[in-house]
Amino acid sequence: VTTIVLLRWDLRLSDNPALFEASKKGAVIPVFLYTKDLFPRSIGGAKKWWLHRALESFSGELKRRYNVDLVIRIGESTLEELEKLVFETKVSGIFFNKNYDPLTKNLEERIIEHFTKKGLDVRSFKSFLLHEPEELRTDEGRPYIVFTPFWKKFQVECVVPKPLGIPERIVKSNVNVSSRNLEELKLLPTIKWYDEMEKCWNVSETGAFERLKYFLDNAVDSYKDLRDRPDLDNTSMLSPYLAAGMISPRQIWHAVIERYDGKLTEGAYAFLRELGWREFSYHILYHNPSLVDANLRKEFDKFPWCWDRDEGFWKWTKGLTGIPIIDAGMRQLWRIGWMHNRVRMIVASWLTKNMLKHWKLGEEWFWDTLVDADIANNVQGWQWTAGCGADAAPYFRIFNPVSQGRKFDPNGEYVKKWVPELRSLPPEYVHAPWEAPEMVLRSVGFELGKDYPLPMLPLEESRKRALDAFQQLGKSR
Ligand code: FAD
Repeated sequence: VTTIVLLRWDLRLSDNPALFEASKKGAVIPVFLYTKDLFPRSIGGAKKWWLHRALESFSGELKRRYNVDLVIRIGESTLEELEKLVFETKVSGIFFNKNYDPLTKNLEERIIEHFTKKGLDVRSFKSFLLHEPEELRTDEGRPYIVFTPFWKKFQVECVVPKPLGIPERIVKSNVNVSSRNLEELKLLPTIKWYDEMEKCWNVSETGAFERLKYFLDNAVDSYKDLRDRPDLDNTSMLSPYLAAGMISPRQIWHAVIERYDGKLTEGAYAFLRELGWREFSYHILYHNPSLVDANLRKEFDKFPWCWDRDEGFWKWTKGLTGIPIIDAGMRQLWRIGWMHNRVRMIVASWLTKNMLKHWKLGEEWFWDTLVDADIANNVQGWQWTAGCGADAAPYFRIFNPVSQGRKFDPNGEYVKKWVPELRSLPPEYVHAPWEAPEMVLRSVGFELGKDYPLPMLPLEESRKRALDAFQQLGKSR
């Protein structure tokens, strides 16, 4: 018996149910299909780099441990490519782990239907999420749109299965299957802009577990109090590993539960709750697939958001807005492909509220630049911040980037790390250099407007403009 294991965002050997179950049945042909319909939304540049490294390390481990090759194919249609593979290899089954991306849900169903009809054993497994989006319903039988009751129900009703280990052995199929080279996927850019990312991330399954261990040893207990501090290394930074499936959420879940023998500290509980937000994002998107582009709250369809990628927008992307915490966040994103959650909210609030740009412009920029780009979390994060999403922050809650900066980066360390122009400023002015007396600026040799831009928009006025727009929306309903 030989089974194809179709891999996508589950590039790991451990707790990979499709791989595990196939390996128990007989020989395995692990396949990565880079087809248009399996990746209908072109992967962003940063995540392409991540995927390249992830495929490299995953195929390396497969070879090293089991002497099995990862088969890589490129094509237009997944069904056609699978047809060819089935014909070439005469396999008796196709296994894969479910992905809950609304853009490919129908395709997964079609694979099952098409090949089951042909007599193959086709199975899909659950491992990308802790729960099935169909599983949880309100008492009225509807999907959730508010996090707190979702999370309550989740804790009562969802039993998170223990993760599986790595397959004891994977038997190589004796059919020779042609494969493309990883380089042929052209995931790496021609200009090598990813040096700093290479230094920052160990893109491998081992890298994910090292990061988890580091977080559990050093940060989880203080997570509740310090998770909002971008100047500290106090969050797990597991998001890109989760997004590419290099660690499963239940591996993280059980690592935490086991460590505390069930008696969680407040920090550990707060951390599991964030995994709950990831579940919630997928739950929402699964039941409302149009949210990839559309506002959940329809009244926002009339909001006067602007779609122009004008000079202001490019200043925002480049971290040249003249607002230190925003510039620090946008430069961190550009350089390492990741941004701290608190700062994501601040930069998103600035774009969608003070700048009145449509949240989709920000969502697309993040999609292209985040190594953890994830359809559900990104859409939910943007809609939440813009005020038009599920359980969203009320629109009138507009983050003040200066007070946010002072509160969550009290010594200005985060800003100074990513915006070196501001390193010479005394901490009290790092978040608002325009407030510093001329004398202070001169004493450190700093010229505002030359060494660092003046704010692109006046904070108070732009805040007021956003609130006015929101009020108009209320009147037009
Ligand atoms: P930790 O604090 O260690 O949390 C652990 C895990 O829980 C994360 O890895 C993530 O999977 C999940 N998680 C944490 N916070 C959230 C949240 N608010 N919503 C959903 N899941 C969460 N996250 C992505 O994974 N991909 C995205 O594309 C993405 N885009 C975002 C865009 C905006 C505008 C905002 C406000 C948030 C976005 N997030 C996204 C959510 C969040 O910012 C990141 O998951 C988090 O910063 C990742 O860092 P971490 O792994 O250290 O998180």
